[in-house]
Amino acid sequence: MFVSHLGQAVHAQRFDYAAHIDHWGSRPMRRGRAGTELHREVAEVGLTGCGGSHFPIAKKWGPVLAAGPGGTVVINGAEGEPGSVKDAVVMQTQPHLVLDGAMNVAEIIGARDIIIWLEESAHASADSMGKAIAERQHSGDPLLPITMMWAPSGYLSGESTAVIAGVRGEPVAPTHTLDRARPWGHDLPILVHNVETLARVGMLGHTGAGEYPRTVLITLSLSIEEGVLTDRRVVEAGVSDTIGDVFDRHGVDAASWILLGGFAGTWHQADQARLLPLAPDLLRNNGLSLGAGIVIVVPRGRELLPQAAAIAHIMAGESAGQCGPCVFGLPAVAKALDRGRLGDVMDLSMMIKGRGGCGLPDGVLRMVESAVDVLQEKVGADDGGVSHG
Ligand code: SF4
Repeated sequence: MFVSHLGQAVHAQRFDYAAHIDHWGSRPMRRGRAGTELHREVAEVGLTGCGGSHFPIAKKWGPVLAAGPGGTVVINGAEGEPGSVKDAVVMQTQPHLVLDGAMNVAEIIGARDIIIWLEESAHASADSMGKAIAERQHSGDPLLPITMMWAPSGYLSGESTAVIAGVRGEPVAPTHTLDRARPWGHDLPILVHNVETLARVGMLGHTGAGEYPRTVLITLSLSIEEGVLTDRRVVEAGVSDTIGDVFDRHGVDAASWILLGGFAGTWHQADQARLLPLAPDLLRNNGLSLGAGIVIVVPRGRELLPQAAAIAHIMAGESAGQCGPCVFGLPAVAKALDRGRLGDVMDLSMMIKGRGGCGLPDGVLRMVESAVDVLQEKVGADDGGVSHG
């Protein structure tokens, strides 16, 4: 039977430091051999980035370790993706698990300080993290210097190269770096990790690989109207579960379509999506992703195309205004969707794909193309179902 861990905690009240110690115990220091051990366990459990990249964490630390001690760990709490609220929930209920993870990583790479990167509207998360820092300092437990930094609200506010730019005092926009292994350039490393990722590193530091809960956190939105999501809830599921298991557990029984992975994700017919696994590696084998752990449900009776068009308009408005194919191409795609001109949509997509400076346009085009695909598949299936005899 599936037993909830992080999700169990996220629906509880905020864990102050006393409750955290009571539940998880004190954080074991992670310098030297203890750090090497945790690094090995991170690889053993296959921990990947929970902000949407799903890049292996142990691998991400490689170039940072090679750069030598020093630098900064960034707790990236900017969830620009409208379909995700899990990081806010984690910060507001398990702030000390996030700090444990950040301290573990800082000790492993020899970082000198920690930055909490938040959207300017994230007052409740800032309040919870600020209280957690004060609780730690009051307890006398070791804590590196921690600073809060504020990002303008928007889809790209948490994009990792935009975060690095912001931390360096530059405009918060994706940076076209030639060296993806050293996106911080030639200065001291700036290692950016999503909030849930750090909470998981914190949890692994307490449980060890043997007891580590193999789960995923999902923001499940039960309705969408013109790109506006309602009835969002954060749920936890086992990696061996399917989307159908999540639906059954949370009473989702009247869905027509789902959008998997958020506004840059993929559309699916709901009955077919029930069979999809949640394990990131299995999804990846099918060319799919949960993104930042996002499942958006279109209730039965609502059409897909207006939702896809509304999302395309929203995402076109999120462009950082640096690349022509993105600035001019995405609004054209959104307008073609408005008019139901699916052939034009696909032609435009072919022209724009791969030409943006960051992943935003390709993500939007993935969402748009999958909408066209599932609509055409549905029409084909419906036509095939008509009896001519
Ligand atoms: S592709 Fe769009 S969002 Fe990305 S850097 Fe270029 S203009 Fe900005």
